[in-house]
Amino acid sequence: MNKNTYVVLGYERSGKESEKHLLSLGHAVLVHDDHQNKIPDIKWEDVIGIVQSPGITPSHPISQAAKQHNIPIYTDIDLLQKRSPQAKYIGITGTNGKSTTTALIGHILKEAGLKTAVGGNIGVPALSLEQLDTNGWYVLELSSYQLELSHRLNLDVTVWTNISPDHLERHGTIENYVDAKKRMFDAAKWACLAIDDKYSTNINQQLHIPHVTIASETINPRADIHVDAEGTLHFKELTFDCTTLQNLKGRHNWQNVALAFAATNHILQDPKKVWQHIQTFPGLSHRQQRIAIINSVEFVNDSKATNADACEKALKTYLGKNIFWILGGVAKTDGIDSLSSYFPHIKKTYLIGEAQERFAETLKDLVPIEKCFTLEKAISHAYIDAKEEKNAVVLLSPACASFDQFRDYEHRGETFIELVKRIDS
Ligand code: ADP
Repeated sequence: MNKNTYVVLGYERSGKESEKHLLSLGHAVLVHDDHQNKIPDIKWEDVIGIVQSPGITPSHPISQAAKQHNIPIYTDIDLLQKRSPQAKYIGITGTNGKSTTTALIGHILKEAGLKTAVGGNIGVPALSLEQLDTNGWYVLELSSYQLELSHRLNLDVTVWTNISPDHLERHGTIENYVDAKKRMFDAAKWACLAIDDKYSTNINQQLHIPHVTIASETINPRADIHVDAEGTLHFKELTFDCTTLQNLKGRHNWQNVALAFAATNHILQDPKKVWQHIQTFPGLSHRQQRIAIINSVEFVNDSKATNADACEKALKTYLGKNIFWILGGVAKTDGIDSLSSYFPHIKKTYLIGEAQERFAETLKDLVPIEKCFTLEKAISHAYIDAKEEKNAVVLLSPACASFDQFRDYEHRGETFIELVKRIDS
């Protein structure tokens, strides 16, 4: 008998890193992945732990079997904390804004000269991050899936962005979803949380660790930090103008800014320095990312906007400009009906992908439509129209998944950037 075995459940990027890490510690590792037809014969008496990918539900048969055998289930975040117990940790969760806030916090700390590694749900497996010592900071984006499976995480700083109904197909109810996310606070030392929605306001009332509150949408001056109607961030007697931040446009981003400000100022204790570093944030790819200005036409890549909610943020940001809107792909169940109040403000739409006919039906008689099907045609036609107008923006904000024509939203965004570059030359 060899009671030294781990089962890695799910063999994508984080699973592969977990396997590598466990092998380096001298464990035997069995990999189970239904999609890759890796179904090992597990001798449960040899198994001392399961490392489960967050994408796999707790109801998976291997997960269930582990519970029956009283075998602990871990995530790669748990393993990272075991591997690097001396480092400091920041956890970021919420429904929207996680990646932006995570990247912004990482940027500020790096600019301030701290040793920093950014990963987790943002796309960099936790165990691929470099080893940090006592002075180093791990900045980890944490999804509800990861938090649902993780043990009590020792987080020095936690950041809570917002809650709206999401991933209910896995969590069942909004209450379960919030409960999964709330686990981030279980063993945390300090928190900052935005209290713009009712779920987060509730959390604030229950939270028993030291924390500061942020209000950016509801303009609640009773919060410790608030962003007012003009976009001015108020912190004690200091004020900072969020409207000057070219790479963090829109009120939703000011929530991210205020949170990153609170978290990093807690660490650095120098609000003016923190603000300086916020100003140099280059922005995250595929989220309202300004690609180029060609003949006064601005090109914006918002490929990450895979649903109407995210798309609304971009339309709101560019309201007042002449918007030439490229959208389509694989539509979500709710389509784009919820965006109807924006339709009269759009100059023209260019439809791509599978959703083209359905969206044409939704938009007809409300806004000019061109069925382009391909992104290439959409960009070139949008540019021809846009350069005839002042104050024009060609906006890729698809409100759709991408897998009918692209590998993922990143591939769609990269293709957009490539095609826009070709116009330039
Ligand atoms: P996440 O990692 O939580 O998916 P991102 O930072 O990647 O969030 O942003 C994804 C999209 O969500 C953005 O393109 C934007 O449309 C929207 N978004 C970003 N921040 C916020 C926020 N604080 N509140 C609401 N929506 C946001």
